[in-house]
Amino acid sequence: MSPGRRMETEQVFLGLGSNLGNRLDNLGQALAKIAALPDCRLLRTSGFYETRPIGGPPGQENYLNAACQIRTRLFPPELLAATQRTERELGRRREEEPERWGPRRIDIDILLWGDSTLDRPELIVPHPRLTERAFVLAPLAELAPDATHPATGLRIRELLERMAEPHEVICRLPL
Ligand code: AMP
Repeated sequence: MSPGRRMETEQVFLGLGSNLGNRLDNLGQALAKIAALPDCRLLRTSGFYETRPIGGPPGQENYLNAACQIRTRLFPPELLAATQRTERELGRRREEEPERWGPRRIDIDILLWGDSTLDRPELIVPHPRLTERAFVLAPLAELAPDATHPATGLRIRELLERMAEPHEVICRLPL
Protein backbone atom coordinates (compact mmCIF):
# COMPACT_ATOMS: atom_id res chain seq x y z
CA MET A 1 0.00 0.00 0.00
CA SER A 2 1.28 3.47 -0.83
CA PRO A 3 2.36 5.64 2.11
CA GLY A 4 -0.42 7.85 3.41
CA ARG A 5 -3.03 5.80 1.58
CA ARG A 6 -6.35 5.58 3.40
CA MET A 7 -7.51 2.19 4.68
CA GLU A 8 -11.13 2.15 3.64
CA THR A 9 -12.22 1.42 0.10
CA GLU A 10 -15.06 2.95 -1.87
CA GLN A 11 -17.32 1.25 -4.36
CA VAL A 12 -17.15 2.94 -7.75
CA PHE A 13 -18.81 2.25 -11.10
CA LEU A 14 -17.08 3.16 -14.35
CA GLY A 15 -18.58 3.43 -17.83
CA LEU A 16 -16.54 2.52 -20.92
CA GLY A 17 -17.12 3.20 -24.60
CA SER A 18 -15.24 2.75 -27.88
CA ASN A 19 -16.14 3.43 -31.51
CA LEU A 20 -12.74 3.60 -33.20
CA GLY A 21 -10.37 0.76 -34.10
CA ASN A 22 -10.97 -2.72 -32.68
CA ARG A 23 -13.72 -1.82 -30.23
CA LEU A 24 -13.84 -5.19 -28.47
CA ASP A 25 -10.09 -5.20 -28.03
CA ASN A 26 -10.11 -1.60 -26.79
CA LEU A 27 -12.70 -2.41 -24.09
CA GLY A 28 -10.87 -5.62 -23.13
CA GLN A 29 -7.55 -3.81 -22.81
CA ALA A 30 -9.10 -0.96 -20.84
CA LEU A 31 -10.65 -3.43 -18.38
CA ALA A 32 -7.31 -5.25 -18.01
CA LYS A 33 -5.58 -1.94 -17.29
CA ILE A 34 -8.28 -0.92 -14.79
CA ALA A 35 -7.82 -4.29 -13.05
CA ALA A 36 -4.08 -3.58 -12.80
CA LEU A 37 -4.39 -0.05 -11.37
CA PRO A 38 -2.75 0.38 -7.96
CA ASP A 39 -5.17 0.54 -5.03
CA CYS A 40 -8.04 -0.65 -7.24
CA ARG A 41 -9.80 -4.00 -7.46
CA LEU A 42 -11.98 -4.86 -10.43
CA LEU A 43 -15.00 -6.75 -9.06
CA ARG A 44 -17.44 -7.20 -11.94
CA THR A 45 -17.92 -6.27 -15.56
CA SER A 46 -21.23 -5.90 -17.42
CA GLY A 47 -21.97 -7.33 -20.83
CA PHE A 48 -20.94 -5.35 -23.92
CA TYR A 49 -23.61 -3.31 -25.70
CA GLU A 50 -23.72 -2.23 -29.34
CA THR A 51 -25.11 1.33 -29.33
CA ARG A 52 -25.77 4.15 -31.76
CA PRO A 53 -23.68 7.32 -31.40
CA ILE A 54 -25.51 10.27 -29.84
CA GLY A 55 -24.61 13.76 -31.04
CA GLY A 56 -21.32 14.43 -32.80
CA PRO A 57 -20.62 14.37 -36.52
CA PRO A 58 -22.82 12.25 -38.81
CA GLY A 59 -21.58 8.90 -40.08
CA GLN A 60 -19.77 7.80 -36.92
CA GLU A 61 -19.47 4.07 -36.20
CA ASN A 62 -21.60 2.48 -33.53
CA TYR A 63 -20.14 2.27 -30.05
CA LEU A 64 -19.46 -0.69 -27.82
CA ASN A 65 -20.31 0.24 -24.23
CA ALA A 66 -19.80 -1.53 -20.92
CA ALA A 67 -19.66 -0.77 -17.21
CA CYS A 68 -17.55 -2.17 -14.41
CA GLN A 69 -17.58 -2.15 -10.63
CA ILE A 70 -14.38 -1.53 -8.73
CA ARG A 71 -13.34 -0.94 -5.15
CA THR A 72 -10.62 1.62 -4.69
CA ARG A 73 -8.59 3.43 -2.07
CA LEU A 74 -7.82 6.20 -4.52
CA PHE A 75 -9.30 9.63 -4.06
CA PRO A 76 -11.56 10.82 -6.89
CA PRO A 77 -8.97 13.07 -8.63
CA GLU A 78 -6.43 10.23 -8.46
CA LEU A 79 -8.83 7.78 -10.09
CA LEU A 80 -9.73 10.35 -12.78
CA ALA A 81 -6.01 10.86 -13.49
CA ALA A 82 -5.55 7.07 -13.66
CA THR A 83 -8.48 6.53 -16.06
CA GLN A 84 -7.29 9.40 -18.28
CA ARG A 85 -3.79 7.88 -18.30
CA THR A 86 -5.35 4.56 -19.30
CA GLU A 87 -7.19 6.32 -22.16
CA ARG A 88 -3.90 7.78 -23.38
CA GLU A 89 -2.10 4.42 -23.09
CA LEU A 90 -4.77 2.96 -25.35
CA GLY A 91 -4.04 5.58 -27.97
CA ARG A 92 -6.64 8.23 -27.19
CA ARG A 93 -5.40 11.68 -28.10
CA ARG A 94 -7.78 14.39 -26.95
CA GLU A 95 -6.01 16.92 -29.17
CA GLU A 96 -6.98 14.75 -32.18
CA GLU A 97 -10.65 15.00 -31.23
CA PRO A 98 -11.89 18.31 -32.61
CA GLU A 99 -15.50 17.24 -32.11
CA ARG A 100 -16.76 17.02 -28.56
CA TRP A 101 -18.83 13.93 -29.30
CA GLY A 102 -16.54 12.63 -32.03
CA PRO A 103 -15.18 9.08 -32.41
CA ARG A 104 -12.79 7.78 -29.78
CA ARG A 105 -10.79 4.61 -29.18
CA ILE A 106 -11.73 4.58 -25.56
CA ASP A 107 -13.70 6.73 -23.17
CA ILE A 108 -13.76 5.95 -19.45
CA ASP A 109 -16.22 7.83 -17.25
CA ILE A 110 -16.67 7.77 -13.48
CA LEU A 111 -20.40 7.08 -13.11
CA LEU A 112 -21.03 6.59 -9.37
CA TRP A 113 -18.78 7.02 -6.33
CA GLY A 114 -20.47 5.20 -3.45
CA ASP A 115 -23.43 7.41 -2.62
CA SER A 116 -21.35 10.58 -2.78
CA THR A 117 -21.81 13.59 -4.98
CA LEU A 118 -18.92 15.67 -6.27
CA ASP A 119 -19.05 18.92 -8.18
CA ARG A 120 -15.60 20.11 -9.17
CA PRO A 121 -14.48 21.78 -12.37
CA GLU A 122 -12.77 18.60 -13.57
CA LEU A 123 -15.00 15.95 -12.02
CA ILE A 124 -18.76 15.73 -11.53
CA VAL A 125 -20.20 12.61 -9.87
CA PRO A 126 -22.68 11.08 -10.54
CA HIS A 127 -21.63 11.59 -14.15
CA PRO A 128 -23.70 14.56 -15.36
CA ARG A 129 -25.19 12.81 -18.39
CA LEU A 130 -25.81 9.46 -16.71
CA THR A 131 -29.57 9.95 -16.36
CA GLU A 132 -30.02 10.77 -20.08
CA ARG A 133 -28.00 7.94 -21.58
CA ALA A 134 -29.46 4.48 -22.00
CA PHE A 135 -26.11 3.29 -23.35
CA VAL A 136 -24.63 4.00 -19.89
CA LEU A 137 -27.67 3.04 -17.80
CA ALA A 138 -28.22 -0.35 -19.50
CA PRO A 139 -24.79 -1.82 -18.63
CA LEU A 140 -24.82 -0.12 -15.21
CA ALA A 141 -28.27 -1.58 -14.45
CA GLU A 142 -26.83 -5.08 -14.98
CA LEU A 143 -24.35 -4.49 -12.16
CA ALA A 144 -26.28 -2.22 -9.80
CA PRO A 145 -30.02 -2.06 -10.59
CA ASP A 146 -30.86 -1.01 -7.04
CA ALA A 147 -28.09 1.53 -6.53
CA THR A 148 -29.56 4.94 -5.82
CA HIS A 149 -28.57 7.84 -8.02
CA PRO A 150 -27.74 10.35 -5.26
CA ALA A 151 -28.77 13.46 -7.16
CA THR A 152 -32.30 12.24 -8.07
CA GLY A 153 -32.95 9.63 -5.37
CA LEU A 154 -34.03 7.18 -8.10
CA ARG A 155 -32.66 3.68 -8.57
CA ILE A 156 -30.62 2.93 -11.67
CA ARG A 157 -33.28 0.55 -13.01
CA GLU A 158 -35.96 3.19 -12.47
CA LEU A 159 -33.91 5.72 -14.45
CA LEU A 160 -33.58 3.19 -17.27
CA GLU A 161 -37.30 2.34 -17.19
CA ARG A 162 -38.17 6.03 -17.32
CA MET A 163 -36.23 6.62 -20.51
CA ALA A 164 -38.82 7.36 -23.15
CA GLU A 165 -36.97 5.77 -26.07
CA PRO A 166 -33.75 3.98 -25.25
CA HIS A 167 -33.40 3.46 -29.00
CA GLU A 168 -29.65 4.01 -29.02
CA VAL A 169 -29.11 0.60 -27.41
CA ILE A 170 -29.13 -1.88 -30.30
CA CYS A 171 -28.27 -5.12 -28.48
CA ARG A 172 -26.22 -6.77 -25.76
CA LEU A 173 -23.49 -8.83 -27.41
CA PRO A 174 -23.90 -12.57 -26.86
CA LEU A 175 -20.45 -12.96 -25.29
P1 AMP B 1 -14.93 12.99 -22.27
O1 AMP B 1 -14.70 13.68 -23.55
O2 AMP B 1 -16.29 12.36 -22.11
O3 AMP B 1 -13.85 11.97 -21.96
O4 AMP B 1 -14.88 14.10 -21.13
C1 AMP B 1 -13.80 14.19 -20.29
C2 AMP B 1 -13.86 15.46 -19.48
O5 AMP B 1 -14.97 15.41 -18.58
C3 AMP B 1 -12.59 15.63 -18.68
O6 AMP B 1 -12.14 16.92 -18.86
C4 AMP B 1 -13.03 15.39 -17.24
O7 AMP B 1 -12.31 16.24 -16.36
C5 AMP B 1 -14.50 15.74 -17.27
N1 AMP B 1 -15.35 15.01 -16.32
C6 AMP B 1 -16.25 15.58 -15.49
N2 AMP B 1 -16.89 14.66 -14.76
C7 AMP B 1 -16.38 13.45 -15.14
C8 AMP B 1 -16.66 12.11 -14.74
N3 AMP B 1 -17.58 11.82 -13.80
N4 AMP B 1 -15.94 11.11 -15.33
C9 AMP B 1 -15.02 11.39 -16.28
N5 AMP B 1 -14.72 12.63 -16.71
C10 AMP B 1 -15.39 13.66 -16.15
